[in-house]
Amino acid sequence: MAEQLQPIRGMADVLPEDSAWWQFLEEQLKDLVHSYGYRELRIPVVERTELFKRSIGEVTDIVEKEMYTFLDRNDESLTLRPEATAGLVRAGISNGLFHNQRQKVWFTGPMFRYEKPQKGRYRQFYQFDVEAFGFPGPDIDAEMIIMTQRLFRRLGISAVTLELNSLGTPESRAGYRRALSEYFTRHRRVLDEDSERRLERNPMRILDSKNPALAEIIRGAPLITNYLDAESTAHFASLCELLDDAGIDYRVNPRLVRGLDYYTRTVFEWVTDRLGAQGAVCSGGRYDGLVEHLGGRSTPAVGWAAGLERLQALYRVCGGEPPEKRPDVYIVAAGDGTLRPAFRLAEQLRDLRPGLRIELNSGGGSLKAQMKRADKSGAELALILGEREVAAETAGLKALRRESEQRDVAWRELADVIDRELTAAAS
Ligand code: ATP
Ligand code: MG
Repeated sequence: MAEQLQPIRGMADVLPEDSAWWQFLEEQLKDLVHSYGYRELRIPVVERTELFKRSIGEVTDIVEKEMYTFLDRNDESLTLRPEATAGLVRAGISNGLFHNQRQKVWFTGPMFRYEKPQKGRYRQFYQFDVEAFGFPGPDIDAEMIIMTQRLFRRLGISAVTLELNSLGTPESRAGYRRALSEYFTRHRRVLDEDSERRLERNPMRILDSKNPALAEIIRGAPLITNYLDAESTAHFASLCELLDDAGIDYRVNPRLVRGLDYYTRTVFEWVTDRLGAQGAVCSGGRYDGLVEHLGGRSTPAVGWAAGLERLQALYRVCGGEPPEKRPDVYIVAAGDGTLRPAFRLAEQLRDLRPGLRIELNSGGGSLKAQMKRADKSGAELALILGEREVAAETAGLKALRRESEQRDVAWRELADVIDRELTAAAS
């Protein structure tokens, strides 16, 4: 036997028995963002490496250690997208979507990060991403957060809390970075290698460290709140007011800085304690400088992304169930000359009732074997075609999920009878 190839670590297959969960979540998310007026913008899986270096920031976990970067055949350095915002901004600039316009867009797809795989942390994972361009005010920040809260409400997830912070502007942040740098320099001997390296170039990243040994000095670090400029303070106050009006509970966490460099002013994160160590389910914020930084015209922007593996896991822990996708009808064809009429009948029913889920038995088998498969398929009804039924242009109809006698139904009445049976079964 040939050697069996192993899957790539941290990259999962979604099996047919699990795909209903994915489809359900994706549909819920799409419905949600469509109801807020967002439209889909699809971007490629691969971009120039430079795009991510410039947007996410050179001194970040993602760019320093997590990217899937390779040279293509033309020796160009390309990278599998580790997140979607950079690509969406690039696409907006490339296609002239920002100049004198406002855009509300969403995107979903796999992201790639070379992390240590564990529960809730994968190398290929899915995000659902929502971004708004051209809106400077706190109203859209509030709407984004209200939208995410509605998502949790729709899914019946209550085990999440919202953390909120403002990072001010790059100018106001400079003073804060200096203060942080001084503070962490004083505690240099406790820092790990990563943090030591970031001390000069990006001390705010130290706040985002997941190393428990640093927790204590991070707790004592200066707070950004004391360094905000007046406009950012006012922006944040209006945001909080709008959230209060909407009845949304939040915790202002002055140490929430988020793992990417491009944020300005609002940052937020929905966290849960129900998923062990990987508690961030949905996070986002404002990034007013990014479009210009990537070569576009200055355009304010704000967005969020939900991690779909974690969202799904949380939905499951909270008792959620996806709608089942089983066949409505399983067609059994047993006996000489029954296969061709069965094919015709199945296609006719599909013409008449496009939404009906019909599974036609393939691969033959005795009546008994086929009835077993019908039952195993989870179908509500079995349609049985034997030689006698074909001769009479009827089919035996049997409800598989409750006590019932098999009865003969004429072919031309089948669609209506199936409708009635399925309605009865649903009630
Ligand atoms: P974390 O702090 O857990 O590493 P992050 O700050 O790197 O998260 P973001 O870049 O903000 O995450 O991505 C948005 C969301 O994507 C996260 O809130 C999380 O739900 C999800 N996510 C991020 N990285 C992974 C991963 N490796 N595997 C699964 N989901 C992930
Ligand atoms: Mg991360």
